[in-house]
Amino acid sequence: MANEYDVIVIGAGTGGYVAAIRAAQLGLKTAVVEKQKALGGTCLLWGCIPTKALLEHAHALKVVQHAKEWGVALPQGTIGLDMGQVHSRKDRIVGGLTKGVEFLFKKNKIDWIRGTARLTGNGSVDVFEGEKQVLRTRKEIIVATGSAPRGVPGIEIDRKRIITSDEAIHLREVPKTIVVMGSGAVGVEFASIFTRFGSDVTIVELLPRLVPVEDESVSAELEKSFRKQGITSHTGSKVTAAKVTDDGVDIEVQLADGTAKKMHVDYLLVATGRGPVTTGLNAEGVGLQLEKGYVKVDRQYKTNVPGISAIGDVITFGASGHPQLAHVSSAEGILAAERIAGQEGRPLNYDHVPGCTYCDPEIGSVGLTENEAKARGYDVRIGTFPFGVLGRAKMAGETDGFVKIVADKKYDEVLGVHMIGARSTELVAEATVALRLESTVEELIRTIHAHPTMAEAIGEAAHAAHGAAIHL
Ligand SMILES: Cc1cc2nc3c(=O)[nH]c(=O)nc-3n(C[C@H](O)[C@H](O)[C@H](O)COP(=O)(O)OP(=O)(O)OC[C@H]3O[C@@H](n4cnc5c(N)ncnc54)[C@H](O)[C@@H]3O)c2cc1C
Repeated sequence: MANEYDVIVIGAGTGGYVAAIRAAQLGLKTAVVEKQKALGGTCLLWGCIPTKALLEHAHALKVVQHAKEWGVALPQGTIGLDMGQVHSRKDRIVGGLTKGVEFLFKKNKIDWIRGTARLTGNGSVDVFEGEKQVLRTRKEIIVATGSAPRGVPGIEIDRKRIITSDEAIHLREVPKTIVVMGSGAVGVEFASIFTRFGSDVTIVELLPRLVPVEDESVSAELEKSFRKQGITSHTGSKVTAAKVTDDGVDIEVQLADGTAKKMHVDYLLVATGRGPVTTGLNAEGVGLQLEKGYVKVDRQYKTNVPGISAIGDVITFGASGHPQLAHVSSAEGILAAERIAGQEGRPLNYDHVPGCTYCDPEIGSVGLTENEAKARGYDVRIGTFPFGVLGRAKMAGETDGFVKIVADKKYDEVLGVHMIGARSTELVAEATVALRLESTVEELIRTIHAHPTMAEAIGEAAHAAHGAAIHL
């Protein structure tokens, strides 16, 4: 006999587990099928959490390396990293959070069905691990199977020397040399981690600038800061060959000027993006419409097959694409669960998704970049304010970067806020609320920003957008 549920969620990442909790809160009997030995998916096990834990270690090392500046006397000798301790602290954090999700499942009476799910049609799911189990849903199945690192043609990932982020987070040694291929969030975060840990880091980016989805000014500032830190960036360049040797990788890079560069490094980290996971799901077998492997959904996360929804990294809306972010997958999970429970929800505004990149210096952005706003026909007004002028930035010794506001001249509406500098990933929350509330620049000016804080830069950038920052 099949086990019956109102909702069956496939995948316990930040999309799936949050959808399950919301469904259970709304009184739906819910099961989650997850094939890993722990809950939490990419974010908790290989993504957001372990990388940011490593970045916090990198930051701690930076502070200690500058101890003299802070008047902190250290015993003689070189400052080193105990990688065993670094990884055990990181693993403790990950373990604590995955156990936390298990606790929430118990609290909300959600069944975790361990194994790999296969859609079989008519609301049924087979689960394989040990004996096959058959689950049936009375209402809906939510596919939340996420994504996995994607390679590039011609570069064979052996997971030992040519690695992805999945291996990089477990690397016990600090590489002497590493090439990072791709300068999206994952690439530049690992570049920051390894540089601070002591590696010689080179970034190779196909597009003309680092962090290509960010505002151009942010890319330029990051490149400048990375150069100061000793990171070499080859933009407009391409890794054309990579061959594993006894002690590393031989790499050939075609540089922007057309010349070829040969390098021998300890590791090549391929950080060129992630692709959808639908292996073993029988998606096509039950008639799900896929686009480049992604599950196609509408703005309510319904697929073309009645009774099957999909959320998170595995989905596409078609031409307009879809951001692969933990908070996006969770927001979608909540909306999907609420719709299944019969609630009416407003669709998400994907222009208001905050993006955080935790490299050093951090990047926080939300809304349209200057170029995007111009391309949409806005008469754009810009306000920029450097963090370096602020008392708080000086105290923290974190004076790099700025806040840039992109606004519409006609109605004064804030269209986008882009920042690079310490704590930008926290500061972006204010900008996100401003966009959500369709705030004007004037409202940001009249918002009182506490002193001394890094957030003062947002108020000052708003003043600058109206022609005059106070402290410049
Ligand atoms: C290095 C790195 C750093 C990142 N940092 C950030 C960050 O700082 N902030 C941010 O917002 N995002 C970050 N991300 C992205 C974020 O992790 C993803 O967007 C998010 O995890 C997507 O959630 P999801 O639920 O859609 O999928 P996933 O988290 O990928 O979860 C899918 C789950 O489904 C399971 N599954 C798949 N197929 C089956 C099956 N057939 N049966 C049973 N189970 C199955 C998988 O085992 C997995 O647990 C990062 C990603 C990486 C790789």
